[in-house]
Amino acid sequence: MTEVIQSISSISNEHKEHLGFYAKKLGYSSEQIAVFEEVMETVRTILDKKVRPKTMEWDRQGTKLVNGKLKLPNGYQEVINELIMDNELLSWFVPEDFGGFGYSNIFSNALTSVMAEYDMSLQVGTLISLSVMEALVIYYRPEYEQYLSNFIKGKHTGYVAFTEPQAGSNLENVKSTSMLDGDEYVLNGSKIFISNGGHAEAGLFLAKNMVDGKAQGTNVFYVEGLDGIEILRLEDKSGLKANPTAQLQFNNVRVPKENLIADAGNGYRKVLERLMGMRTGVVAQGVGAVSRALELAESYADQRIQFGKPINSFYGVKRKLDEMKRQLPRMLKHCYLASFALDRYNKGYIPYDIGASGHESELAAADGIPGIARGALVHYFVSQANIYTSEIANLVLYDAQQIFGGNGFIAENEINKLTRDVRVLPIYEGTSEIHEWLISRAKPALELLPKFKVVSSEFDGTTVYERMLFEKFPSLKGSI
Ligand SMILES: Cc1cc2nc3c(=O)[nH]c(=O)nc-3n(C[C@H](O)[C@H](O)[C@H](O)COP(=O)(O)OP(=O)(O)OC[C@H]3O[C@@H](n4cnc5c(N)ncnc54)[C@H](O)[C@@H]3O)c2cc1C
Repeated sequence: MTEVIQSISSISNEHKEHLGFYAKKLGYSSEQIAVFEEVMETVRTILDKKVRPKTMEWDRQGTKLVNGKLKLPNGYQEVINELIMDNELLSWFVPEDFGGFGYSNIFSNALTSVMAEYDMSLQVGTLISLSVMEALVIYYRPEYEQYLSNFIKGKHTGYVAFTEPQAGSNLENVKSTSMLDGDEYVLNGSKIFISNGGHAEAGLFLAKNMVDGKAQGTNVFYVEGLDGIEILRLEDKSGLKANPTAQLQFNNVRVPKENLIADAGNGYRKVLERLMGMRTGVVAQGVGAVSRALELAESYADQRIQFGKPINSFYGVKRKLDEMKRQLPRMLKHCYLASFALDRYNKGYIPYDIGASGHESELAAADGIPGIARGALVHYFVSQANIYTSEIANLVLYDAQQIFGGNGFIAENEINKLTRDVRVLPIYEGTSEIHEWLISRAKPALELLPKFKVVSSEFDGTTVYERMLFEKFPSLKGSI
């Protein structure tokens, strides 16, 4: 069971089909799409050579806190460096006006999905920077050019420091403070569960906006450098073991006043509600993890002999594999629809009718669509894809692990690692319950769109996993 199973089948053709379709709708040329496919091939080659043979060793070693400093698993950082420094991977997702190549969420999520097939920890460690970059791009000021350039050149990786002990789903309840002092803001507070925390050099920080000793809303800041940031604790997690998740103390960290993203007092409402790239990233992580699980389960079921036959010849195993195969393209579809909806929204348009007819959708300009429906529509697409893929990834992984019998319960096997890793999908970037609530909040606005139909209405039937999802979250039935 320690044998490394290489990719035996790839969903890359399906990725290509979706990517090509939506990329053209977004105005990318065939050449641009081809160039991106080459980038994906380069990444896959690196992942095949440097990550696949190491992923279980990294999982076993995990990240450690030694004398106040993080010790990452052997070779883990070198691969991140190769991806983001040598290949300047992050440059592809910065708009051309700001020095990058201008590839949008449909592309970054194709990449996320492929990286998640190999190692979710590494994917988080490499691509969480996209959230920081997203904030710098949406609320661009000339001062941010240098910050973006540091990401483009791979000098920096990012972190996002929002959560606090009393402020998880309810992030507006943060206690951290920010106070203007001359031309600088002074930041103080304690943050928990920070991915890449204490390791990445640049990130976002959410705090109360203190004016004359009183809180007036919240602020989000861009923070560069680790001065004044102390690692209080490193979490011992059940999954994502190679990626550090830390509790950080910010002590009088000073940032230029221009590092306030958007306006004072509006951090939660304006910035956090716009940062949806990572939410669609969670969807892509689910797609990647399920494709790898299917690959592993198919291979194992083909080779494992019981009662004189490969176990894939037994109805109980075959039925599971068939259902997983039916499920994966649906997850992929949700992933691209959500990413496309976000891309259209970021360009000032909405994808009006894609829920109904998918590929033959009408793309209506935002004019004439009430603003409230526009915002609700993008939240609908992002949250429905999020809850759908993150919950279903866990259901699929349960079955994939089951196919491995006792071997599936052994930590050193990759299927076991995947099962542990995907458990976080319905928790971070908004819990499933929060996404369920966001979908219900979007519904009245969606009723203002006469042609709007939910994404799953085009599927010919439900899978076992969809039925289980609807049993768990009855309000989603007919809503996603
Ligand atoms: C591995 C990992 C990495 C993370 N990385 C980061 C990071 O990089 N940066 C960062 O800022 N945070 C990060 N987080 C934190 C993560 O975003 C939070 O854990 C998540 O938002 C949930 O918050 P909470 O844990 O406080 O749970 P709570 O908000 O306390 O929720 C507990 C339960 O109550 C439910 N609940 C809460 N409110 C409602 C409601 N209104 N309706 C229905 N149910 C509700 C939740 O769904 C959940 O089931 C990370 C967490 C993990 C585990």
